[in-house]
Amino acid sequence: MAEKITPRDKDFSQWYQDVVLQARLADYSPVKGCMVIRPNGYSIWEQIHENLDRRIKATGARNAYFPLFIPESFLKKEAEHVEGFAPQCAVVTYAGAKDLEEKLVVRPTSETIINSMFAKWIQSYRDLPMMINQWANVVRWEMRTRLFLRTTEFLWQEGHTCHATADEAEVEARKMLRVYVDFAEEVLAMPVIAGLKSESEKFAGALRTYCIEAMMQDKKALQAGTSHNLSTNFAKAFDTLFLDKDGKQKLVHQTSWGVSTRLIGGMIMTHSDDRGLVLPPRLATTHVVIVPILSNASLKADVLSAAESLAKSIQDAGASSQLPYSVGVLVDQDETKQPGWKFHEYELIGVPIRIELGPRDLEKGQIVMTRRDLGQKEVVLLGEVPQKVVRDLAAMQKELLEKARAFREKNTFAVDDYSDFRKRIEEPGGFFMAAWCQSKSCEAKIKEETKATIRCLPLDPDHQPIAEAGRCLACSSTDSLVRAIFARSY
Ligand SMILES: [Zn+2]
Repeated sequence: MAEKITPRDKDFSQWYQDVVLQARLADYSPVKGCMVIRPNGYSIWEQIHENLDRRIKATGARNAYFPLFIPESFLKKEAEHVEGFAPQCAVVTYAGAKDLEEKLVVRPTSETIINSMFAKWIQSYRDLPMMINQWANVVRWEMRTRLFLRTTEFLWQEGHTCHATADEAEVEARKMLRVYVDFAEEVLAMPVIAGLKSESEKFAGALRTYCIEAMMQDKKALQAGTSHNLSTNFAKAFDTLFLDKDGKQKLVHQTSWGVSTRLIGGMIMTHSDDRGLVLPPRLATTHVVIVPILSNASLKADVLSAAESLAKSIQDAGASSQLPYSVGVLVDQDETKQPGWKFHEYELIGVPIRIELGPRDLEKGQIVMTRRDLGQKEVVLLGEVPQKVVRDLAAMQKELLEKARAFREKNTFAVDDYSDFRKRIEEPGGFFMAAWCQSKSCEAKIKEETKATIRCLPLDPDHQPIAEAGRCLACSSTDSLVRAIFARSY
């Protein structure tokens, strides 16, 4: 008997855990805080990797690989960086049966070790820009962990670039932010708000941090990706210099940017329902499952061969369509499991389209088709199935994004009264747009009293925070106000 998934409205956090475990996406590992990504989850990561890798390479970056271990002295070279990351670092002090002369930090991020190499590889303006991306694991010692969302070890990509001028670095940081927005919306069907982090929320060692923020179904925010303009902060620490056209030695201007396996958690909490995973077709490897009903022994061979030929026509229709992936079709011939069990299973693991094909359907030249996100059975004539599958996959991808965007809009409010905000952040919750005077004390007070943080400062067309009229949400000041989005977050 299958386990039951806790409904979202009863306990959202338990629901999330139930979906992740029961859909066999990930599991808890023997090492506290670390996760095992199971094949159902890893295939989603592979889709993310493949698709985003293509987009990153199109910007001119190339992949490389740097060591897992970073000499402790490297981390200490950039003061803000070490202060920000030291509490989360795992450090190797003993190896090869003796104490190490210099401790090795297990990378929490790779700015420092990559800079040590940039300093060696970059001599002249001719070497710039230098744009490197790395797909790797990183370790940040977390106290409270949740599968995919916050784990001690996680997988990510981290891009690191060097430029001759401050302008070029700023352009690059914004360009990668745009790549993440498009990727999140086009592939994950997860609408995001792009913005600037406040000073207290920015990356340790950055000049500016841009981010994308998404609203989950419990109305909390999830930071889904970041792009940093590092200015010359790391270049100074590592003497990453180049000889410019004017014959002068100058510091390079840098960026770094990353997204992680956290995206999988965000995608789950954006689309899935009380029956399990809802997977945007662009992240699926099996898009269609055909469940032949094999109970009638004399018609079994006919049903199976009809199922096989239908699978072939669906794949062919996919190949000659505009879909940006090849349509994966599975014919489930397993006779040890009942059709009812299979329907439940494929709903749970989020196969986008399910087709039932029985002897009576075959006689009538039809099948029964169900789109995972809608859950309604439709009778479709056999000859029309391939084109309908193509149309439905495209429609599902688009509608998941639209539905999530409508949900976010319905739950985003403008607010100017602090006591009103304090009530509404509790119930109903959501994203709250308010004026903020840019003081750290107002930001800290709001966080302390409401557990809501500034998720980002939305941007005007020049990538600057949007100037706001009115009064600061916390102190009622009318000076230097910008628009901020406040929310509770993961
Ligand atoms: Zn204020």
